[in-house]
Amino acid sequence: MDLEDLLRPVLDHRGDVVVAVDFDGTLSPIVDDPATARPLDGAPLLLAELAPLVGEVAVLSGRPVSFLEQFFTDDGVSLFGLYGLESRRGGRRSDHPSSGVWRESVAAVAERCRRSGVDGMEVEPKGLSITLHYRQHPDLEPAVRALAAEQAEQSGLLVRDAKMSVELHPPIAADKGTVLRSLAASHTGAVLVVGDDLGDLPAFDALDELATEGRPVVRVAVGGAEAPPVLTDRADVVLAGPEDVRDLLTTLVAG
Ligand SMILES: [Mg+2]
Repeated sequence: MDLEDLLRPVLDHRGDVVVAVDFDGTLSPIVDDPATARPLDGAPLLLAELAPLVGEVAVLSGRPVSFLEQFFTDDGVSLFGLYGLESRRGGRRSDHPSSGVWRESVAAVAERCRRSGVDGMEVEPKGLSITLHYRQHPDLEPAVRALAAEQAEQSGLLVRDAKMSVELHPPIAADKGTVLRSLAASHTGAVLVVGDDLGDLPAFDALDELATEGRPVVRVAVGGAEAPPVLTDRADVVLAGPEDVRDLLTTLVAG
């Protein structure tokens, strides 16, 4: 099915639609140094323009809200950071109710990872979670995975796979799927998700559940060399890259 046909149910009843978009690899091109990732020019403005036209526009990311909000300054755009452990919705910041007790142990684990002696691995502490990157040194993957498993065992944090990285998270039932379910529950229209990575799979799972309940859903994957087939195989449409995501947002704004 082509994109126009796919978007028709969304465009015909825009007023209560949920549009949920991932950040890295979806709104921003993947870069070697994750700290330098930026959304494509115009993408934040398109989301801000779309927000008042639909039920809710949300950016769902593994990044902290503090990182996302430097780009998405319009309070009309909801932000869900750290896979839902943090959010900014209607301009209000909040943490997941179970997350507070974990900040200290997450900081301690981040420090132990920094001193672990895995040279070339980048440790990115995110407050309530940690990402261990091996993008610059793919050969480090086994060492990084072993370190993550060991630290998880000692701390009670859980390991999650991500793109060229491993993440450690508190054992709190929050992921893009739980975020999506709560967004969907706040609105009655179609739900559209755009993602490119394993972290977006729970959101696709939530869409499958919503579809069985009769809700119109649209699953959009962003392809590319690193896109996991488990995600792209389940998508209604696979886009080539962030530029195509920006075109899709332009189409949604234009109606
Ligand atoms: Mg991504």
